[in-house]
Amino acid sequence: MAGRIAKNMDECIACGLCVELCPAVFAQGEDKPIIAKQDVGPAEEACAQEAIDSCPVSCIYWL
Ligand code: SF4
Repeated sequence: MAGRIAKNMDECIACGLCVELCPAVFAQGEDKPIIAKQDVGPAEEACAQEAIDSCPVSCIYWL
């Protein structure tokens, strides 16, 4: 499901998994990873979904 993606920064534990799995969408921020590309296209859809499914605190979601 390509579309817009978001994450709850308060819940994020900064494990870095999302950046590792999908560097096209997530990037290392100052203290926690951030969403560098909120509009996820077909090319990044699979890794974005993998990051959503793998986030240990389930704080990444489709809008
Ligand atoms: S995978 Fe989840 S908890 Fe880990 S850095 Fe990314 S958003 Fe934060």
